[in-house]
Amino acid sequence: MRLFTTTAGLRCYLERQRGGKDVGLVPTMGALHAGHLSLIERARRENAIVIVSIFVNPLQFGPTEDFQHYPRPLEEDQQLCEQAGVDAIFAPSAVELYGDHRLTSDTQAELTHIVPSTAMTSVLCGRSRPGHFQGVATVVTKLLNLVQPERAYFGQKDAQQLAIIRRLVADLNFPVTIVACPIVREESGLAYSSRNQYLTPSQKAQAPILWSALQAAQKAFQAGELDAPFGKPFRDRTSLIEVVKSELASVSDIQVEYVELVHPTTLTPLDQVEDSGLLAIAARFGSTRLIDNVLLQHRKPIVAIDGPAGAGKSTVARQVAQTLGLMHLDTGAMYRALTWRVLEAGIDLEDEPAIAELVSQSQINLVTDEASGAIRIWIDGEEVTQVIRSLEVTANVSFIAAVPAVRRELVKQQQRWGCKGGVVAEGRDIGTHVFPDAELKIFLTASVQERARRRQQDLKDQELQSVSLEQLEQDIRLRDVRDSTRALAPLRKAADAIEINTDGLSIAEVTERIVSLYHQQISTSV
Ligand code: AMP
Repeated sequence: MRLFTTTAGLRCYLERQRGGKDVGLVPTMGALHAGHLSLIERARRENAIVIVSIFVNPLQFGPTEDFQHYPRPLEEDQQLCEQAGVDAIFAPSAVELYGDHRLTSDTQAELTHIVPSTAMTSVLCGRSRPGHFQGVATVVTKLLNLVQPERAYFGQKDAQQLAIIRRLVADLNFPVTIVACPIVREESGLAYSSRNQYLTPSQKAQAPILWSALQAAQKAFQAGELDAPFGKPFRDRTSLIEVVKSELASVSDIQVEYVELVHPTTLTPLDQVEDSGLLAIAARFGSTRLIDNVLLQHRKPIVAIDGPAGAGKSTVARQVAQTLGLMHLDTGAMYRALTWRVLEAGIDLEDEPAIAELVSQSQINLVTDEASGAIRIWIDGEEVTQVIRSLEVTANVSFIAAVPAVRRELVKQQQRWGCKGGVVAEGRDIGTHVFPDAELKIFLTASVQERARRRQQDLKDQELQSVSLEQLEQDIRLRDVRDSTRALAPLRKAADAIEINTDGLSIAEVTERIVSLYHQQISTSV
């Protein structure tokens, strides 16, 4: 692992190492804990090169805040990064990043600042920390420009920061994907934070109340959701905030700064949770300020089915969707529709920029046919359910699907469907990348031998030329290696996915198993 303290060293390292490889950036202020490590682990899984920045950014601290005392255990951080397989740490001084001035309020005025959306910085923590998010936005912009990562990782713990950075990246067209990672908690429920070490033993014993209070509101919200047809839905601001406040009142050493309900993307205060809401707290224990939050989702569940080619994902997904009355988000058909659109427009398949232009303007629509339960598909207002099964589309779909711009656009459209929920989707990275918060994740596998047998049967059923089992097995092994190592959307099992080996099981048996897991999962998540 390398350690760089200058932008010159970092730039030179990246120039030499990059060579078309994906770079993941994890920006931190150091004093690393399990929360940071979860971001690093995720970055390690998804990128060839992982850079962790460690920088206690003076611009984001107010004059009365803990900048001087913020912990800076660089050696321990280095060890943790080394163990986590980080490629390089970037730990510059303030002078290195901001030039040769002492950062007084006068000299700060000489710097270029990034001013994020004021609507988003005037709520939650922005009220008591003026200038904080401007400091965050400025340093994150600098880090993104220096590292130019494909992906940058941020914790849901700092939900306001995450929303502001997502907006900044969209507004300023940064070519980076912002990856949000779930909050990691101690066993007590207290969210890991570098500031937890300031707490006295008695404050540390009280601090988990933040999470229990949020959980109480989440439980009431979910129970309200279930009872909605019969009772009053528990979704309004006053009731949710009241539950949190009354729980918080059970400890003595807490000074609550705010309990707020906002929209997680726009941070607009909400009177009611329509699709999703962010319930957030800031409170002090003595002089230590802690924050925590929970996402409240008012959407139907999502089932994500991933697994290697030939494990029966699409047939199973269709059956599961039909049995549960959910929609089969047929991602294969979506790729086919875009392929049809590109072919129909007569675009040269090597002309990726032209393909990118076209697909970013295309709108796909899927509708479940009431009578048959089958999916009908439209693109830009034209029904293409039948034509996307043509030989020409079949021959070109994997080529088009490998174009990064096509994939980016489709993931965006799939996630839009996910906002409403109520879908079963299958693929290679649906549970890890497209719907990481799916209620049920299945990883469908089958032995190479079994998949070869099924493929041989398919060929026979379609009266196509037969291929030997040995040859089919060899093809499948090769495809597995290619699918798991491909740069774009590699095949991975999500940590929380349930694996089902379908060897010796019929489609109906696999469907039944998933449907019963679904009912278990939905009842235990409330
Ligand atoms: P910080 O060092 O506090 O600036 O945090 C660096 C990154 O780690 C930010 O994106 C935080 O949101 C994230 N982070 C901090 N604590 C946690 C946690 N307990 N769980 C998940 N992410 C976290």
